[in-house]
Parts: sequence; C-alpha cells; structure tokens
Amino acid sequence: MKSPDFIARAKEIENVVVDWRRHFHSHPELSFDEVETSKFIAKTLTELGCENVQIGTFGRPTGVIADIKGGKPGKCVALRADIDALPVTEETGLPFASQNAGVMHACGHDGHAAMLLGAAKMLCEVKDRLPGSVRLIFQPSEESAVVKQGARAVVEDGKALAGVDAIFGVHLWSPLEAGVLGYTTGAMMACSDSWTLKIHGKGGHGAAPHQTHDPTVAAGQIICALQTFVSREIEPIKNAVLSVGIMKAGGAFNVIPEEVELTGTARSFEPQISLDCEDFIRRVGENIGAAFRCTTDLEYSRNLPPTVNHAEMALLGAENGRKVFGADNVRELKPTMVGEDFSFYLEKVPGAFFFIGVGDEAKHTTWPHHHCRFTIDEAQLHKGSAFEALCAWEFLNKA
Ligand SMILES: [Zn+2]
Ligand SMILES: [Zn+2]
Repeated sequence: MKSPDFIARAKEIENVVVDWRRHFHSHPELSFDEVETSKFIAKTLTELGCENVQIGTFGRPTGVIADIKGGKPGKCVALRADIDALPVTEETGLPFASQNAGVMHACGHDGHAAMLLGAAKMLCEVKDRLPGSVRLIFQPSEESAVVKQGARAVVEDGKALAGVDAIFGVHLWSPLEAGVLGYTTGAMMACSDSWTLKIHGKGGHGAAPHQTHDPTVAAGQIICALQTFVSREIEPIKNAVLSVGIMKAGGAFNVIPEEVELTGTARSFEPQISLDCEDFIRRVGENIGAAFRCTTDLEYSRNLPPTVNHAEMALLGAENGRKVFGADNVRELKPTMVGEDFSFYLEKVPGAFFFIGVGDEAKHTTWPHHHCRFTIDEAQLHKGSAFEALCAWEFLNKA
C-alpha cells in the first residue's frame, strides 16, 4: 500500500517534536536513572494511542516499551531510541539548557527520544491501515553500556524483542553534515573490549636490579609487542585497534615494584578478531613475562559486540532515506571504531543502524559528542521522525 505522506506530516508536527526534545534536554538523567524521562515517554505514548505501554521492564525502573497495533495482520518491526544523558556540566548557554546540575544530554539522545515519539505519533494516526505492528523501544543506559548494560539488559529480559521481525535505530551525528543520512551495508561500529594484564615480578632496591625480577622492563617489552597484533596477526585488509590506556607501576623513584598493571581497549568488527586478540595478549604476556622471570594474569571483557548492519535492511533504510533527506544526501559511510550497544539487537534480529548528520558550522552544531557545548541542528528532528515512520511502514508493507 502507498505510504502516508509522513514527510509532510512530520513538517506539520515539527514544533511538537522540537518541544519534546527541549523538554528532555532540560531534564537529563543518567544511565539507569531515567525515571522522570521514562514517565514522560510512557504518558505521551499512552496519550498518542499506543498499547502495552510498560515502564521499567528489564529488571530496572527505567526504559519504556510499547506497541502500535495495526488494523491488519502482519509482521512486527521495532524502532529503538536511547534516552540517557551524561555526567557533563552543560556550557551551551541555550535557553532550555540542563536544569539538572552536572548532567547533560551531550550525545543527542534527547533528540532520539523526541524523534521516536514523533514517529509514534504519525504511525498511531494511520494505524488502521498498518499491516502488522510497531514495537517502540525507549532504551535506558546506552552511555554506560560497559558497566551498566542497557541494550544487553533489554535483550536478555526478552519482552522487548519478543515477536519482533526487524529493527531500526538512528543516531544524530555531529561529525556528519546536517541533512545527510549515513549508513553501511555491513560493519558500522566496532566491538568494544577491555582488558587488564597484571605482570608479577619481584621488587627490590632500584640500585640492585640484579636481585629483582623487574616487571617494568617486562611491561615495556610487552607494550611494544602488543603493537604487532594489528600488523602481524590479522589479515592486512581487516581492521583492528589495540591500545594501552592505563599503566600502573611503582610509587618511588628508587624502588623496583612488585607488579605492573596494564589496561587497554581492543576494537574490531569480527568476533574472531576479538577472540584472537585475547589469545595474543595472553601469549605475549606469558612468554615475554617468562623471559624476564615474571608471571602474568589477563582479564579480558567483551563489553559490546560490533554493530553490523544487515544489508537488506540497510538498503531499505537508504531507499526511504533518499525520500526524506534527498537523493544526494544519503551516503554509504566508512565504519567507525566507536562502539554502540544497538549491536545487541542486531545479534538477535535483522536490522540496521543509521547516522543522521547534525553538523552545521553556522549553527555551532559541530562540537564532538560528549562535549560540554555539544548541541544538535533541530531542523533535522522532524526528518528523523519521518525516516523512522517510513522505515517501519515500508518494512511492514513489504513483509
Ligand atoms: Zn554518547
Ligand atoms: Zn549516543
């Protein structure tokens, strides 16, 4: 069935979507603390005519899921927005700046929540003609996905993805110019692993190194050897990063310490590379450590899997993106090494993740994400709503 004119309708409701965004922006809440945000979303969804509106599934009191049930039978497509803010003190000077000291929507999740409410409003207006249903997922805790796992909790809880056949998600993106939709047909964002290698030696006097097993020297050799993971261990046409972020060793200029601790991150787009990386760090640690009469322990955590789009879903999104953003404004992008917990959904159901460019020098919207002056080009919000509504409509009509 021909789609409703979501593009024109989105323009008509633009002010409503912008107001929602400003409301969220003024009242930011940290990861898994999105209590008032969730109440506001649930109340709005109920007023719009959504069904099964539930706050605080996932074993926590935040996050919202809801359904828009179409008038005709069909499949179920999910749309996801993340809703949490960051521990950042806002310095934008905006009239609707954060009223919650030390907390700021500095990543655009205020816009994500508002855009999805806009899409929900438009889909509710035409639900009698909708073949199938739309599951709305307002996900908590994307920002601290490493410690407090938002999407993982949502997926493991099971309710949000029950019966879902496909999923779409977007991120407003300041490195991309305003009005451009970016996508990939495969790997979009990297996995995010973290690791800690402890090197145990035998400490002693800095002037008598022959009586010690110096773990700092072993650590130096290990750090250099870790750099060969990318150059010697993985296929040259593939990508990975292995970085050391923290070195902890000693406390006095004349003491050789007992122990050195190295902590770092590893990024790649394939689960096998992540497995190989853990194996490599362990092997290099053990063997170089042994050469210097030290022993090692490795702790390795896989925090986020890579975000890998399903080509068919990415192309469906790109096709609808050309209607909303214009044929010249839809671009296939290179993947980025940043992580995103949308990956957990894509491990379970086909789907795709998109970047909506909000960067515009003249509007001062090119600050990096998580910066205290980060803000978005609000003129893109209604387009985001139209894009999400169209993706849902077209998926259900093609299914
Ligand atoms: Zn962020
Ligand atoms: Zn974000």
